Amino acid sequence: MITTHPFHAGTADDDTLHEECGVFGIYGFPDAAAHTALGLHALQHRGQEAAGIVTFDGRQFFAHRDMGLVGDIFASEAVMARLAGTAAIGHVRYSTTGETALRNVQPLFADLQVGGFALAHNGNLTNALALRKELVRRGSLFQSTSDTEVIVHLVAVSECNSVVDRLTDALRQVEGAYSLVALTESCVIGVRDPLGVRPLVIGRLGRAHIVTSETCALDIIGAEFVRDVEPGEMVVLDDSGVHSLRPFPPARSRFCIFEYIYFARPDSVLHGANVYERRKRIGAELARESAIPADVVVPVPDSGVPAAIGYAEASGLPFELGIIRNHYVGRTFIEPAQQIRHLGVRLKHNANRASLTGKRVILVDDSIVRGTTSIKIVEMVRAAGATEVHMRIAAPPTTHSCFYGIDTPEENELLAARMDVAAMARHIGVDSLAFISMDALYRAMGEAGRNAEQPQFCDACFTGDYPTQLTDARGTDEPAQLSLLAEHG
Ligand code: AMP
Repeated sequence: MITTHPFHAGTADDDTLHEECGVFGIYGFPDAAAHTALGLHALQHRGQEAAGIVTFDGRQFFAHRDMGLVGDIFASEAVMARLAGTAAIGHVRYSTTGETALRNVQPLFADLQVGGFALAHNGNLTNALALRKELVRRGSLFQSTSDTEVIVHLVAVSECNSVVDRLTDALRQVEGAYSLVALTESCVIGVRDPLGVRPLVIGRLGRAHIVTSETCALDIIGAEFVRDVEPGEMVVLDDSGVHSLRPFPPARSRFCIFEYIYFARPDSVLHGANVYERRKRIGAELARESAIPADVVVPVPDSGVPAAIGYAEASGLPFELGIIRNHYVGRTFIEPAQQIRHLGVRLKHNANRASLTGKRVILVDDSIVRGTTSIKIVEMVRAAGATEVHMRIAAPPTTHSCFYGIDTPEENELLAARMDVAAMARHIGVDSLAFISMDALYRAMGEAGRNAEQPQFCDACFTGDYPTQLTDARGTDEPAQLSLLAEHG
């Protein structure tokens, strides 16, 4: 069982692997920083804790990184004026536990033998600790506790000549999930791990090119979607356009199915599929699988809305906004302590009594993690006069932690890892509870079902079927050695 976090064990600095992120890179556009800031704003759902931009103006690199929301960090004209250049990369980051140090905010930057090099990462390396120990043994001096810095050091010590070859050399040594954007003195590089766990797309704006996590970051700046970066593909954006390289042996893609269920923005198109449509199809499959007599279908907003629309359409029941969400409160998960998380849920949702009183209610949410949200919501819906409450979940039970860049609590905190569905139903206080089955979920993705031999997606959070080695998590019980920085926090 995975109970210890490799970078967390025994340190005060447990802010590394529990990250969710978004990346953006643009090459060859005037005022690249302003466009990057807008792109990051569209990716804010992927990370609300910190953001950064690094630019290059042909002579010099400029960087600005801070804790907080994109709109606040890049609001000042003076800040934006300093970020000069026609090439830029940016990053939004979301980490939920422990210290949130500025030194971990990306893009990371280093002056290498081959020139300046900035790097932004969405995903998670599963052998970062092992690599880091070896690099430290060989004399590398780490500045942050981020797994991403391992890549920067591997690029620094590579004996290859060009920066592209050095990055390839570095990435051949890492395991796990990565969608990266890098900025050098001559190009922006975008690269996706061989399994393509996290998304990355290419766009065009006039003659300039963009690589970013989701298409919604292209829409915001009026850029045209070109295509997805393929799993295992590296794209180099420079003065002569986009060059595609295939530096890794071909592998069967394992895109994260949870991007479609919860994480990506509904208006994004990933691998040719509109996320909102996929969510509606999940809801429709759920309705077919676990129909129950009821009066209304009510989403837990906002994450449950598309699936609830699909459920209502397929079941013929009316869709009602029976719970209203206050949009001026941060995500529940952002609160570090259990006590505050409870409070967070109250701050965030309120029952719309008129749609609930005297009704048999089907509540639809995207997932149950710890169960905290569900308990509060069910209590609220009953207090508003619902006669029955049936919960339908647009994901299978979350039984395993994610090691690939989606924040999930440790396994022993996951409700579904501790109890079966009947016990979960009692725990959250519903009259019935049903999760979508794995095959129905795959059907909603346009597949005939889950191919057990070669699953079409990464669904490790539901199955424990991790598509890469978990070297750090499973390889050692030694506490991470995180330098003196941890003590000085
Ligand atoms: P919980 O209250 O712990 O059961 O959390 C479930 C709620 O958190 C659901 O309503 C989801 O929309 C949301 N959620 C699920 N996964 C994540 C995640 N990785 N980060 C933030 N929120 C999440």
